[in-house]
Amino acid sequence: KHEIEDAIDNLSQDLKGLMYPLGYSKSARKTRDKEETIFCQRCYNLRYHNKIINSSWQDTLTLDKSFLQFLQKKQNSIILTVIDIFDFPGSLTKDLDQLIGRHHSNILIANKIDLLPKDIDPIRIKMWLKEHCSMYGLNNIQEIFLCSAKKNWNIKELCNEISRIRNYNDDIYLIGNTNVGKSELINSLLRTCAYHGGGNYKVTSSHIPGTTVNMFGLPLDLFNDALGKNVKGMIFNEKDDGRFLFDTPGIVGENQILSYLNQEELKMVIPQRNILPLTFEFKPGKSLLFGGLGRIDYKEGNKPIRITVFSKLISHITSIEKANDFYEQLSSCDENHFLEPPIGSIDRLKQFPRIIKCKRDLKVIGECHPKKSKCILDVVWGGIGWCSIGGVRDGESVIFDVWSPNGKGVYTRHVPL
Ligand code: GDP
Repeated sequence: KHEIEDAIDNLSQDLKGLMYPLGYSKSARKTRDKEETIFCQRCYNLRYHNKIINSSWQDTLTLDKSFLQFLQKKQNSIILTVIDIFDFPGSLTKDLDQLIGRHHSNILIANKIDLLPKDIDPIRIKMWLKEHCSMYGLNNIQEIFLCSAKKNWNIKELCNEISRIRNYNDDIYLIGNTNVGKSELINSLLRTCAYHGGGNYKVTSSHIPGTTVNMFGLPLDLFNDALGKNVKGMIFNEKDDGRFLFDTPGIVGENQILSYLNQEELKMVIPQRNILPLTFEFKPGKSLLFGGLGRIDYKEGNKPIRITVFSKLISHITSIEKANDFYEQLSSCDENHFLEPPIGSIDRLKQFPRIIKCKRDLKVIGECHPKKSKCILDVVWGGIGWCSIGGVRDGESVIFDVWSPNGKGVYTRHVPL
């Protein structure tokens, strides 16, 4: 161990940067002399700062779905499936029922609810989620919780539900794609429900059989409360010794645009607070760009329509021809802040997947609504944002082309949020 650590110290700065996502922590070195225990960065933060660090890089490097099959062999566990409401159904793993079996109790956690407009109707959202889960092969859901891990919204209610459905010999597994907020959710559970916010406890890391991947386990008795065993919001009781809440590695969604981005770019793209919608008049022949990651062309139509954008990225409207030129320049020009991300050198831009048409001739027909201004279709770039198309007159049709990196991660939805 000492030799490896010294070798890491001697590496160049660049190589150290590469070791970091692999889980090596400089601060972990400090613990060596005292306890003869070396923690990886993630365990160190969990143990000493009660924080889970973002592990997407680490996960991306090692992940496949095989660990889900391990859950199939487990008996009657509780599965907490986390999805990102801002990237749904993109952040849902397809055919989960088949992959993990239907013998578990499954709670769906729709995270990042704080990003949605305030006037959303939770019942409608739950219905919409249920319908789409079923379309994507997840029917076995006991309950749906709309949560914000960041703001601790509905976390106590979630704990109560787990407590209600749980037998005391069950482990709990947290599953979900990378960047849906699993780590943030664990931190939120610790803040909200754990004894003294998770004070002194030992983190367990156990190997998932048949894979090279580790899971991190929080002992359930961590959530015992010294103030009383049955305090509302506490998930567990004294019989829980030896049972764990396992944070499983993030699944890299095949269709996630976010999986192309590095840490710096993710920060730029993932919204941290409620998005303010921006509405534009959109004329035929125009193109709307979201940074270097998304584009929609208004190809055919007689009249201007209305387009409302929900995204943290800079939106920019230009003509379709100019948009083509823009992207040609992108791979040859170092400084193009308009089209970030991708960020950085020409090398990065060249290696980044080109945006290509993923939906050709997407036809939208105006519907007769008492409210003329009603939006009729959302075009969603998973994890990046969406635009709502409205103002199309009753019976008239308009046609769009939609673009994304490698043609990935775009879907449409008819139920506006
Ligand atoms: P993981 O890969 O599933 O562990 O995801 P993380 O917990 O690392 O979260 C990914 C990103 O989403 C981070 O930038 C978080 O700050 C952000 N995030 C997580 N939960 C929430 C939430 O409830 N609301 C908002 N606005 N952002 C969140």
